[in-house]
Amino acid sequence: MRAIGLDFEQRTLTEQEVTPPRAPQAGEVLLRIHEVGICATDRELSRFRFGLPPEGESFLTLGHEALAQVEVGDAQWAKGDWVAPMIRRSCSPACDHCLRGRRDLCQTGEYLERGINRAHGYLVPFTVDTSSELLAIPETLLDVAALAEPLSVVEKAVETALRAHPMQPRTAIVMGAGPVGILTALLLLLKGLEVNVVSLEPEDHPRVQLLKRAGAAYLRDRRPSRADLVFEAAGGAADLLDWLSPCGVLMLIGAGEEELSLPPLRMLVDNLTVAGTVNAGRSHFEQAIEDLGRIQRPLLAAMIERRGIGQWRESFTGSAVIPKIVHRLG
Ligand SMILES: [Zn+2]
Ligand SMILES: [Zn+2]
Repeated sequence: MRAIGLDFEQRTLTEQEVTPPRAPQAGEVLLRIHEVGICATDRELSRFRFGLPPEGESFLTLGHEALAQVEVGDAQWAKGDWVAPMIRRSCSPACDHCLRGRRDLCQTGEYLERGINRAHGYLVPFTVDTSSELLAIPETLLDVAALAEPLSVVEKAVETALRAHPMQPRTAIVMGAGPVGILTALLLLLKGLEVNVVSLEPEDHPRVQLLKRAGAAYLRDRRPSRADLVFEAAGGAADLLDWLSPCGVLMLIGAGEEELSLPPLRMLVDNLTVAGTVNAGRSHFEQAIEDLGRIQRPLLAAMIERRGIGQWRESFTGSAVIPKIVHRLG
């Protein structure tokens, strides 16, 4: 069977023949992969900016935002069940946080991530996975299920920001109109916040139209008024603290190159918080699946462009107008 991934010897992004998966053992199921979403992480991986193959191998199958169907089940899953896998797997021996199910907060950094770090991903027709790492996807959500993984990351960021704010935040700025920025805006709107999105796209860009339909305000060239929460999902801007109201929280979800200036006096006088977040725990993933059913479906559907698997190469290299490219494998 064919897999799409990274050849670490040739340092190329390629499609190659791989051995079909072995029969699942106790606590495992065989999955048939239906859809895989591509994100900025995949594009960075394809440039060999990070990522590692499994130990003793030189090829890493990519793809971490997957929708799959159980092909060979176990006590927990029946053949035909729709599932989405969690990406990050425990370090070994497990640290305290991994042991308590919070691999997203791993203390050693020795975790595995399927399709990213020392474990194969899902851009392949079949794979064996651990039963306990799968979440059920209701059939009513199949058309938007590819957004479950990116939304889980956003759920964690929003939960962390709300917890860090000492009062009741009412206003938010989201910087960036990529898939994570848009999902952050949609989730904050769902929670009743007033949302401004700041990005570089022109006013008539489909992403901007989508945000406006959702009820967000969009600012391209103007500086936003201060807000209770600021989410940085673009990777840039040094003066983000200036955008915060007193008691405000700046949440970093995009990995920018630019240094952030932290004026100590303003931080303490105004009770400001700066925090970073990555990945997601099980509860965030479960919440993401629930919220996919609560956010207006046409808005989520407008975020997705489906492509046949034959077009995989341009998804890694080209730029996309529609935020989320999803490949059909079946
Ligand atoms: Zn991703
Ligand atoms: Zn750990």
